[in-house]
Amino acid sequence: MPELPEVETIVRSLAPRLEGRRIISAEVLAPRIVRHCESDVSACVAGRKIRSVERRGKFIVMHLDDGALTIHLGMTGQLLFDSPRTPYTRAIFQLDRGTLLYDDVRMFGSIEWTPAVPPRVERLGPEPLRIAPEDFYAGIHTRKASIKAVLLNQAVVRGMGNIYTDEALFRAGIRPDKPASAISRKRADRLLTAMQEVLLEAIEHRGSSVSDYVDTEGRRGDFQDRHRVYDREGEPCVVCGTPIRRTVVAQRGTHFCPRCQR
Ligand SMILES: [Zn+2]
Repeated sequence: MPELPEVETIVRSLAPRLEGRRIISAEVLAPRIVRHCESDVSACVAGRKIRSVERRGKFIVMHLDDGALTIHLGMTGQLLFDSPRTPYTRAIFQLDRGTLLYDDVRMFGSIEWTPAVPPRVERLGPEPLRIAPEDFYAGIHTRKASIKAVLLNQAVVRGMGNIYTDEALFRAGIRPDKPASAISRKRADRLLTAMQEVLLEAIEHRGSSVSDYVDTEGRRGDFQDRHRVYDREGEPCVVCGTPIRRTVVAQRGTHFCPRCQR
């Protein structure tokens, strides 16, 4: 599933291509990807100009001269620019210059048009790359759930998913199942720094291609080669050599070093 770095990579490459363009027509080939809105997306976006494109957590928001087109890539969504149609193309946006395709094999993604940014997107927690340490600590220290569950909660911080949560907790030396409320201010600061470092490094490497994630030009990211715990069960910890363990925390497959993380 695309997380913050993958969506950021897509937005950075889409924004210069889309901003200022006009949508001539839009065709939704799979109606079930239009979710959370009653609007006829094709009719609402046709003729509209794209003012700006931004990432909100894992959502891609295109601000039009009338309303907002919000896309969530779900598990397997892809936004491809000037790329050939495939059997998984679910929507086609014909622009005055270029074509934007929305491909999605499993169709857990969504496209919606709303008069303004949808309230559930507005309500997301702060960006992990911008939150102040004291606000981060305030957001986690009253929560009794595991720190992993708390980081995945999009109301606490937005954009963290399974991969970067595991990687950040490893770098911070914190066990994923530790109750968030048991983490000291000092360790919370270290965790926030680890999250920011791992997210920035992943953005630099254009994200992780663990399943079928590709960017807007169809290129794979290469941060998966730099994962220290995620999907490395049984392999030696890069710090201490102990085999990485896999368990389930917050109903998600979770990877950690039993020696380095406390
Ligand atoms: Zn270790």
